Amino acid sequence: MVKKVTQNVDVVVIGGGASGMMAAGRAAAQGKRVVILEKNNALGEKLKITGGGRCNITNAEFDTKKLLSHYGDAEKFLYSPFSVFGVKDTFNFFESRNLPLMIEDGNRAFPKSEKAMDVFLVLEEYIKNNNVEVHFKSVVDTILCKGGNIQEVETKTHIFYPEKVIVATGGISHPETGSTGDGFRWLKNIGHTVVDPTPDIVPLSLKEQWIKKVSGVALDDVKITFYCRDKKQFIKKGRVLCTHFGISGPMILNSASKVRDLLHDGVVTAHIDLFPSVDIGTLEKQFIDLFDENKNKMLKNILPKIVPPGFMAAFENIFPDIDMDVKVHSLKKEERKKIVHTLKSLEVTVTGLMGLDRAVVSDGGVALKEIDMKTMQSKKCENLYVTGDLLHISRPSGGYSLQLCWTTGYIAGSSVM
Ligand SMILES: Cc1cc2nc3c(=O)[nH]c(=O)nc-3n(C[C@H](O)[C@H](O)[C@H](O)COP(=O)(O)OP(=O)(O)OC[C@H]3O[C@@H](n4cnc5c(N)ncnc54)[C@H](O)[C@@H]3O)c2cc1C
Repeated sequence: MVKKVTQNVDVVVIGGGASGMMAAGRAAAQGKRVVILEKNNALGEKLKITGGGRCNITNAEFDTKKLLSHYGDAEKFLYSPFSVFGVKDTFNFFESRNLPLMIEDGNRAFPKSEKAMDVFLVLEEYIKNNNVEVHFKSVVDTILCKGGNIQEVETKTHIFYPEKVIVATGGISHPETGSTGDGFRWLKNIGHTVVDPTPDIVPLSLKEQWIKKVSGVALDDVKITFYCRDKKQFIKKGRVLCTHFGISGPMILNSASKVRDLLHDGVVTAHIDLFPSVDIGTLEKQFIDLFDENKNKMLKNILPKIVPPGFMAAFENIFPDIDMDVKVHSLKKEERKKIVHTLKSLEVTVTGLMGLDRAVVSDGGVALKEIDMKTMQSKKCENLYVTGDLLHISRPSGGYSLQLCWTTGYIAGSSVM
């Protein structure tokens, strides 16, 4: 098949996700002729599922030093780009386009409409208003680098000869959204160091099969202590979401990389304290009082007054030796103690981290020292720019990933002049 040659393009942006759309819109707003090549038949597929469909658009920490302290080793590289486009600029960008934002706990910012789709629509309008051309179902298979410059970008049907190329193909988490790691391959071939991507910010899988029975149940305000080879390692507090295969929720997602390291050393267990605000004696007293008031009722009908109701579905498995149909007055003292002690320290065994299909981001990516962070320009290839999840920047959940997309996308788009 003869490929169609397209010459009259200034900038090709490969990948129309969060950072690609920002970069394309910004470059076009400055008068560049910009084309987005997107393998899907829609833009922003991952963006549309962010934050459970609500889109945690950024982290509203306006003190740049404090904000950047969450980006680990990448902190020192990020001062320069964030001084040009930081969190305040993200607020201005979206709010000035009729998308008011609100701030929740942990400084997590969301659109007031609580719709990720609305975030997408702002970006879609941004690129439309600036006449960015979008080629859907356009899978880039090759970018040809010669003499330190990208000469060609090829899809199955087209060859482009742009002046500048922005690679915004994302990481490899949730590959069904289109990010399948193509950019990592090209950048490696060009000579970049690419730290192998592994799942990060990812749920944990558990050995205990009872977790399936409570899939969907949220345990609010619990304390979880992680052990490796029976030695206490670290403690987290917050919300745990039970899933079909294990546990999730922001606190768990943010523990994933530490747990991964521990798993190399041996068996990892987690002890969940469902009542961290009371000591064991107080909790026991609460149970005694409750049982005294309800002597003739069945245990299974009384426990939901104290225990998260949905969690009861797993009790027969967690307490195989205790009859849940027993009248409370017949419950033995040791049985009551066992219930109280277990709820203060419910032990589960972590079998691993879930895969890339369930990860929020993939860790790994292009080494930052090989990118000019003032421009997002590759130091290996002069007319190449790299954005978003392709960069090797570890960060927790809480809006930090998308903020990187807005910042790096904006900077790349500004720099292709
Ligand atoms: C379930 C989930 C929830 C999340 N929630 C949040 C959140 O609330 N807040 C937050 O900050 N972060 C969140 N993230 C992370 C955030 O979504 C990503 O950091 C962000 O989308 C990355 O944007 P990107 O532009 O780098 O790449 P992507 O959004 O992955 O876009 C890459 C694009 O490139 C295209 N592409 C890939 N290869 C090719 C090719 N060869 N040719 C043409 N096109 C190609 C893809 O189809 C895709 O459209 C979440 C992630 C997931 C998976």
